[in-house]
Amino acid sequence: MDTSTNQSERVIIIGGGIIGMLTARELLSRGLQALVLDAGDGRDTASTGNAGIIAPGHPPIAHPGLPARALQLLLNHDSPLYIPPRPDPALLRWLLGFRRACRTEHYRNAVEVLNGLSHLSMELWKELASNDSVSQHLNSVGWVEACCEETTCEEAMKDLALLHRDGFDAEFIDGDELRRRDPAFSRQVLGALAHPSDMLTDPAGLLSALQTEVEKLGGIVRHGCRVDSLLHDGRSGLMGVMSCNGEIIEGNQAVLSAGIWSDRFARSHGLRIPMQAAKGYHVMLAMDAPPRTACVCRETMVGVNPCAGGLRLAGTLELSGINSRFIRRRLNMLRIGASRYINGIRAARATSEWNGLRPCTADGLPVIGAVPGFKGAYVATGHGMMGVTLGPITARIIGSLLENQPPPFDITPLDPARF
Ligand SMILES: Cc1cc2nc3c(=O)[nH]c(=O)nc-3n(C[C@H](O)[C@H](O)[C@H](O)COP(=O)(O)OP(=O)(O)OC[C@H]3O[C@@H](n4cnc5c(N)ncnc54)[C@H](O)[C@@H]3O)c2cc1C
Repeated sequence: MDTSTNQSERVIIIGGGIIGMLTARELLSRGLQALVLDAGDGRDTASTGNAGIIAPGHPPIAHPGLPARALQLLLNHDSPLYIPPRPDPALLRWLLGFRRACRTEHYRNAVEVLNGLSHLSMELWKELASNDSVSQHLNSVGWVEACCEETTCEEAMKDLALLHRDGFDAEFIDGDELRRRDPAFSRQVLGALAHPSDMLTDPAGLLSALQTEVEKLGGIVRHGCRVDSLLHDGRSGLMGVMSCNGEIIEGNQAVLSAGIWSDRFARSHGLRIPMQAAKGYHVMLAMDAPPRTACVCRETMVGVNPCAGGLRLAGTLELSGINSRFIRRRLNMLRIGASRYINGIRAARATSEWNGLRPCTADGLPVIGAVPGFKGAYVATGHGMMGVTLGPITARIIGSLLENQPPPFDITPLDPARF
């Protein structure tokens, strides 16, 4: 048993990634007590190794053009989205749901929901950027989507019109203008869709600063504590959780924010949150003259962010289950995919390599809300490629639900009971 005060009156947050940590911070700033329990050491999750681009307006992975390319994705090791075929009924069910999500009408609805959430989240990120300890890990310098082909430039210009329609700040610049702003970009880049108001972060530094902030506000963060189950009394609601080594930890509310592992945890409590782990990789490079501007290479989908003392190349989506196996060929794709866009990538020395799992729902929307039939239990997961971007609004929604206030956004499409 841990020894903090008012143990029965606190919120237990299961999972201390970006979603859990921002949720703890939000609850503490509302005057609630928060205890974060995390199975790992806080240094090696999707929340520490991601590309670090806070990118409102990012479209969902499922889009109307995708089913036509399904076979190519199943068989091609070198495609940004790779699905190694395996006889897994959960994967098949997920893929059927994903296919439905590619329908034009669903895609439009999903874009509307994600855009609404990301506008609100961006406002909250701006507020966080004025907080002293967190601000040093947030950089409002924007990023670009660099294009090496005429057709991609044309697509980017169409996206520009949509971004403007939806209220996002963006501009299209040609390759020369991009090289004038940042000479590290190669002559092969023909143009770029620039997002000048977006933020960049170094993800591990941000998570660690958020933990410090949580502790400063009176919260407790425990690493190495894997939660096994919720302890629930049908009448009075949540009473606490039990850890995997049998420790009973008291609390009267709980938030499940355990990333991809939320799926199995929820299932053992009778709730379905079907997700697939979308593995991504990063490699850190040491370079003499790295780019100052973060980018996503539009044709290869590699994210490039000068952060954490080097240049991070991050990306690829691989639906190969919950594991941390490296497929060297996919890791190498990062360097190959970025070298056409940025000078000096091929010769740069790799200083570290990493992979991690994005928690992806088939419909491309996060899962945020109360657990039906479990008074006092809430879920905040399923953010896929946008967990950093949507973290603050997720925390704000959970905060309002816990205080019985109307959430700042219509959360019907995010309902945990929708599956
Ligand atoms: C290569 C890559 C690039 C990305 N780039 C971006 C980007 O540029 N911008 C963006 O917005 N998003 C990006 N993402 C997505 C983003 O990283 C994720 O959506 C986000 O980190 C998910 O956060 P989380 O807190 O839900 O999960 P996680 O970070 O996975 O954290 C979950 C935590 O729960 C803990 N846990 C699991 N089970 C238990 C249990 N039973 N008990 C206690 N603790 C438990 C784990 O130890 C872990 O610490 C990227 C992801 C990848 C992989």
